[in-house]
Amino acid sequence: MEDYPRTLAELEARFSTEEACREYLAQLRWPEGFRCPRCGGAKAWRLRRLLFECQRCGVQTSVTAGTIFQDIRKPLTMWFRAAWLVTSQKTGASAMGVQRVLGLGSYRTAWTWLHKLRRAMGRPGRDRLSGRVEVDETFLGGHEKGLRGRKTLRKVLVVVAAQEDGPGVGRIRMRRIKDTSANSLVPFVVESVEAGSVVHTDGWQAYNGLSEKGYTHEVTILRGRTETASQLLPRVHRVISLLERWLLGTHQGAVSHEHLDYYLDDFTFRFNRRTSRHRGKLFYRLLQQAVTVDPSPYREMIKHARGRRPADHNP
Ligand SMILES: [Zn+2]
Repeated sequence: MEDYPRTLAELEARFSTEEACREYLAQLRWPEGFRCPRCGGAKAWRLRRLLFECQRCGVQTSVTAGTIFQDIRKPLTMWFRAAWLVTSQKTGASAMGVQRVLGLGSYRTAWTWLHKLRRAMGRPGRDRLSGRVEVDETFLGGHEKGLRGRKTLRKVLVVVAAQEDGPGVGRIRMRRIKDTSANSLVPFVVESVEAGSVVHTDGWQAYNGLSEKGYTHEVTILRGRTETASQLLPRVHRVISLLERWLLGTHQGAVSHEHLDYYLDDFTFRFNRRTSRHRGKLFYRLLQQAVTVDPSPYREMIKHARGRRPADHNP
């Protein structure tokens, strides 16, 4: 059952204390009850607040250890407000907006917060696209004249997969790539689209290996001079136009190459949930992903829980 606030007033009433925020995160992280991150044990002593000690192996863990909230210095109540700002607006939030609304001391802090939250937006292994999917790669900045000439995003190559939904676009996936070789494009398709799907591309040879990977590869070759890539693969190019407008509008074009991936995750997270009637669902999903722990950093987390008292994680 998805339990989330529906309005800002509900958010503020419900998450006015650290305790309430931690309880909520605990529900999201351990929906079936506590699980020890080291041994998988289900029984724990509950120490003060939300600090757990595994009854089997004795490891102590807090609800935020090993999540994006591990080392935060500001209260969770503020982070919940930031997560709400990011998810409640259709276009998301800019660092400047977050700084202003939360009264954060610096732009830099607000920017860092947004990046932490964006890390929870893109997760490997999430559902792949299926059915009929358009795939094309393009340089960002070619669609919106305003972006041309900006140093920040010149010559960034992005590949986009857009699921067909009648004449419209279903869900999408996108990634920054370093070149248009098969080594860059094919792995993207494999990770983004389920085998057995129809993948529609232009005639670029780097896509030739797709049928070997279990896809029905449909190729449309640009023939006449009157056709453009946007007409052949309209969904991908509609998505790219929206992405460019968003980078220019919400973020004023102030996105550098090295951070672009996070913005792509942010855009994708939002785009794939654009028809959701309740914005609160995005808040729920974001926090759920924020506390989902990858198996790999658990050692780091345990070291942390032992080395520094977990109760002090969020002073
Ligand atoms: Zn254990």
